[in-house]
Amino acid sequence: MSLRILLVEDDRELRATLREALGVEGYEVQPAASLADARALLRQAGTSSGMDLVLLDLGLPDGDGQSLLAELRRSSNCPVIVISAREAEGQKIRLLDEGADDYLVKPFGIGELLARLRVALRHRGHRSQPAVLSYRHGGLDIDLRTRRVRRDGGEVHLTPTEFELLARLVRQAGQVVTHRQLLADVWGPEHTEQTHYLRLYMGQLRAKLEADSADPLHLLTEPGVGYRIAEPDADA
Ligand code: CA
Repeated sequence: MSLRILLVEDDRELRATLREALGVEGYEVQPAASLADARALLRQAGTSSGMDLVLLDLGLPDGDGQSLLAELRRSSNCPVIVISAREAEGQKIRLLDEGADDYLVKPFGIGELLARLRVALRHRGHRSQPAVLSYRHGGLDIDLRTRRVRRDGGEVHLTPTEFELLARLVRQAGQVVTHRQLLADVWGPEHTEQTHYLRLYMGQLRAKLEADSADPLHLLTEPGVGYRIAEPDADA
């Protein structure tokens, strides 16, 4: 059975392009040009869980896509990827903190969209399966159970906080995690403003894990928003 994607986008041309590209990949696309269309399709699907993923534009003729994100989050854990021309950092952070799984700024490449989509679906699909416990990508090998980290076969020693930060990113590998989420989960909810902790510890992690910490392969910065660990190798 193919996965169903609700595509909420009022730009007719982009809607057609995405519908076709996603169709070629085997997804069943339900297009909606407005919030009203989207809500009608969600009702038709029975519950919002009738969709496997939502691609959500923000600027829509009858309102802001953000209101639909809020409605979806109240009723389901269906992954939502925001696609928008708005690239203000504050906006991205707010949407991610409010439960969007990812955010793509237009214009974006189809390859990038497909990659983000696979990551979001995999994370949700794994809900009933064992949690992510290991990670392998370009010479980096992380085992969360044994707390063992290797780089090019050699053991890397991490402090407990460095390890917790790395583990938090690995559990959501391929997805951006906001500064606030990282600080709350690693240091505690009272530390969500201490972004200097993150800069310090990411610097230390990169020094230990990256060949060139100025040009990281694994620990990627989403400027002003947060961090993302690169998508793991397919066989990991
Ligand atoms: Ca729009």
